[in-house]
Amino acid sequence: MTEKYNIIVIGAGHAGCEAALAASRLGLKTLLITINADSIARMPCNPAVGGIAKGQMVREMDALGGEMGWITDHAGVQFKMLNRSRGPAVWSPRAQCDKEMYSVLMTKSIQSQANLSLLQSEVSSIIVKHNKVCGVKIATGEIIDTDAAIVTTGTFLMGRIYLGKDYFVGGRFNERAATYLSKSLIDDCGLKLGRFKTTTPPRVNTNSIDYNKMTIQPGDEKPLPFSHFTEVEKWRTNLNQLPCWLTYTNPQTHKIVLDKADLSSIGIGETNSKSPRYCPAIEEKIERYPQKERHQIFVEPEGRMTNEMYLNGLFTGIPFNAQERMIHSIAGLESAKIIRFGYAIEYDYVKPLQIKKTMETKTVENLFLGGQINGTTGYEEAGVQGFMAGVNAVLKLLGKEPFILGRDEAYIGILIDDITTKGMDEPYRMFTSRAEYRLSIRSDNADLRLMDKGHSLGLISDKAYAKFELYRKTLNQMLEKETEILPTDEELNPWSAEKIKDEIDICNKYKGYIEIENKMFQKMKKSEARVIPEDFDYNLLHSISVETKQRLSQTRPSTIGQASRIPSIKPSDIAILTIYLEKMRKEKKPKAQIQND
Ligand SMILES: Cc1cc2nc3c(=O)[nH]c(=O)nc-3n(C[C@H](O)[C@H](O)[C@H](O)COP(=O)(O)OP(=O)(O)OC[C@H]3O[C@@H](n4cnc5c(N)ncnc54)[C@H](O)[C@@H]3O)c2cc1C
Repeated sequence: MTEKYNIIVIGAGHAGCEAALAASRLGLKTLLITINADSIARMPCNPAVGGIAKGQMVREMDALGGEMGWITDHAGVQFKMLNRSRGPAVWSPRAQCDKEMYSVLMTKSIQSQANLSLLQSEVSSIIVKHNKVCGVKIATGEIIDTDAAIVTTGTFLMGRIYLGKDYFVGGRFNERAATYLSKSLIDDCGLKLGRFKTTTPPRVNTNSIDYNKMTIQPGDEKPLPFSHFTEVEKWRTNLNQLPCWLTYTNPQTHKIVLDKADLSSIGIGETNSKSPRYCPAIEEKIERYPQKERHQIFVEPEGRMTNEMYLNGLFTGIPFNAQERMIHSIAGLESAKIIRFGYAIEYDYVKPLQIKKTMETKTVENLFLGGQINGTTGYEEAGVQGFMAGVNAVLKLLGKEPFILGRDEAYIGILIDDITTKGMDEPYRMFTSRAEYRLSIRSDNADLRLMDKGHSLGLISDKAYAKFELYRKTLNQMLEKETEILPTDEELNPWSAEKIKDEIDICNKYKGYIEIENKMFQKMKKSEARVIPEDFDYNLLHSISVETKQRLSQTRPSTIGQASRIPSIKPSDIAILTIYLEKMRKEKKPKAQIQND
């Protein structure tokens, strides 16, 4: 093809869409290539966005100028603030979505975006010259020139679908796998790949469910949207929420599952690939907790225009006939008609220690990776990485400073810091417990933390930013008790008086605690920020173990803070490293000359 692009994004999943929108909105000529243009931003598992810590990330990305929050507000069928019974620090918004609607709305955003073209094709290889990306080859053999590429191929690389012990090649059910690109990532880009696995539960027809035997789970009475730009009152008025339902497994279910557990696809596969520990298959849960007589099953709608109900909690890899018996043993599902069976998928991922915090690979310049390809799982984890890869690819091509978020600034920063420094031995998902400063990085204050940055990047318009500034000014004045007069809701819209009052309550509640957290943070930050030279020779540290030296040499953390978060690195190792660096700084001698005592 003759046309050249600044950026080519490979894969229109959750990461690819955010990457392509960010890059094109920042003005660069962008091409999004995807195997199937009918499955843009498809949700192959539960069509739910947000949840514990994930909701925070969606709000953060929205404050920076991402798309997921806005689309969720318009495709959502039920909205709930999780963890309401606990403190606001861990409140996490979650929405059950209409999966078709989500995909349609994202497709519309992609197709309407200036500077962005969409092409249905499979990318078979990355063209690299002098260690720099210069093009991609598509399956028909044509080469498309580009200055940078962002790979966001999800579960498709050498994907294998498991139904019990049987398997066939596929990227998702009824979608073909990408069978060429892995080889190019290894041979042309020098990257090391691993294998992971994930499962999805069966779906049943709503007409065949007896809801009298289940407990209704309604949405929030006063739901809150994800996007800062959604006009709350208008949105609430038009929102017709659907209920979810709760039922339980029982000893009979467990017996059926255990009888067939040895035929499950969990724990098998080419490389005994790992599945997410926190999202276990029902067979794993029953084996892991033999004393538990029942497990929760949430029955959740997949959309307004479909009868399919998702059985959240029944992830499974057991054979089809056993799945049917398992479902029929559960209260309310005795006559349930299965529309889709549960299955497992195994796929290649790139070990993310090979990428920088900008999401650029360490092996090839201008090659960026985002989403499930980096070993993470979840739409939100994928979306935020894609967004950051898109932004950083643009900044790199324009010769500007990279955009990196700190662990104290955003969950997005924590995710990227974790995966690029700790590596992983199972699919990575976000939790609030991964955040050191979670009192400060809440879902309610994502705008206060990040909207300045989104505006500076150029992804938040001046008009929207002016509204935000009025909200922030009013909030600060009221917190300082300088005024009690609120602007009208029309002036504040899409922010509101309700939001200001809620924020004041939260700020007052946390004031003392946040001050303590900030002091602790400042103390830690002093030593955290200390830079470790890129070519630092860890063998110079005589008093630490060989394994620790190897781990540090392999990971190459750029700061003491990063080093301290590498699994298996002990505080005593960090103390030795800090003392050594301090000694180097004082002596200002070449490191080879410094004696380590
Ligand atoms: C069966 C199954 C179960 C899952 N279970 C869970 C779960 O329980 N919990 C959870 O959080 N997440 C789960 N997920 C994962 C969730 O779907 C992903 O985390 C998320 O979709 C990843 O987004 P992504 O953008 O990285 O990739 P994807 O959404 O997978 O999108 C990848 C895109 O890249 C395209 N593509 C791939 N290769 C090429 C190529 N060579 N050329 C062009 N285009 C290409 C594909 O067509 C697709 O559009 C599950 C996924 C599957 C398939």
